[in-house]
Amino acid sequence: MAGEAVVIRGRLFDGEEIIEKGVLAFDVESGLITGAGERGSIEEPRNARVVEVEGSTITPGFIDVHMHFFGSKTLDLAEWNVTPDATVAIRSVTDMWNLLSSGFTAVRDLGSKVGTHISKAERAGEIKGPRVISAAKSLAQTGGNDDYKILPIHMAHELSYSYYCDSPWECRKAVRLCMRDGAEAIKVYASGTMSHDGQWKPHLTVEELTAIADEAHRSHVKATAHAYGEQAIRNVVEAGIDSIEHGLELTGETAKLIRSKGIYYVPTLSVYSIHKPAEGTRRSEVIARHLGEEMEIAREHKLKIAAGTDFVGAGESPHGMNYTEMKLLAEHLGSLEALKSGTSVAADCLGLPETGRLRKGKVADILVIKGKPDRNIEDASPGHIAHVFHDGKQFR
Ligand SMILES: [Zn+2]
Ligand SMILES: [Zn+2]
Repeated sequence: MAGEAVVIRGRLFDGEEIIEKGVLAFDVESGLITGAGERGSIEEPRNARVVEVEGSTITPGFIDVHMHFFGSKTLDLAEWNVTPDATVAIRSVTDMWNLLSSGFTAVRDLGSKVGTHISKAERAGEIKGPRVISAAKSLAQTGGNDDYKILPIHMAHELSYSYYCDSPWECRKAVRLCMRDGAEAIKVYASGTMSHDGQWKPHLTVEELTAIADEAHRSHVKATAHAYGEQAIRNVVEAGIDSIEHGLELTGETAKLIRSKGIYYVPTLSVYSIHKPAEGTRRSEVIARHLGEEMEIAREHKLKIAAGTDFVGAGESPHGMNYTEMKLLAEHLGSLEALKSGTSVAADCLGLPETGRLRKGKVADILVIKGKPDRNIEDASPGHIAHVFHDGKQFR
């Protein structure tokens, strides 16, 4: 169905390369791109609204592959668990708008109590924001990372944003509960985070993780795992999970394994840059290594690195500043590769072939950015986002 057409002419980043004299056309009604490439190489629709952009770059909408709708004010587990769902949902509506207006047209919510509802509301046109791929609740072992242990177990589980599961069959059941909730991805905690002595432990066995990956794949969704520490990374790789979140303690050996299995690496540098821990602690050492040496290992081994902030919407990790991850990745990969991490590579990581690239037949998730973010990633910051089109509709 052909409806109102829009043509944008200017410098174009199609998700993979720069086309200096580019042009892109899309149909507003279907929300699909009808052509993109070198000027003169595509047929521009007649009677189209033509936008000429100068000094700007046309890019795919940005994607954050790891965030949460926690609607919280602080980075505090108790608050994440006890904030009423209605409050979380109300705050998330604002977060959704801040994400979209800063150029994010798709996000993956890796565990929350409202994500699937936010997702449905956006697709129904009831709220404005990016497309949300929600994991529904995350999966964790009893006594795991996000188990608010002060409470009796039944209360902690009731309030948690995770389903607790122990044994392969409970893990399969938890995946099925997520699918029942409307999940489009599965997130599992394959380790804790840092405890007081700065050590971490793998969580869930390989058998349990394998059951989760298999059950997710049977439902045609990707599985991803929070993993701190070399053993947890090895377990995730062995289990057949599709991506690794955080991935602290990456080594050359594990990088080779990750590469050979085609697993995506999501280092979530942003969340470690919010709070610089006290110097001289183990925590500060492992974070410094993650932000430095481990990123060099990831780059050398050509890992498929996707941009994910792990922002939760709190004051210190506000939705709307999610370009921070591309900025931090650019320090290691350069601006062009960082931009791919937040567009085409992110779309591949999520299994969303319809977005992340500006090509014929793909969804019209398009930005017009003042400057050249492929040369200076700071141009991807919110102040540079001139226009945002999502599903062919203009929001900015
Ligand atoms: Zn995590
Ligand atoms: Zn997270």
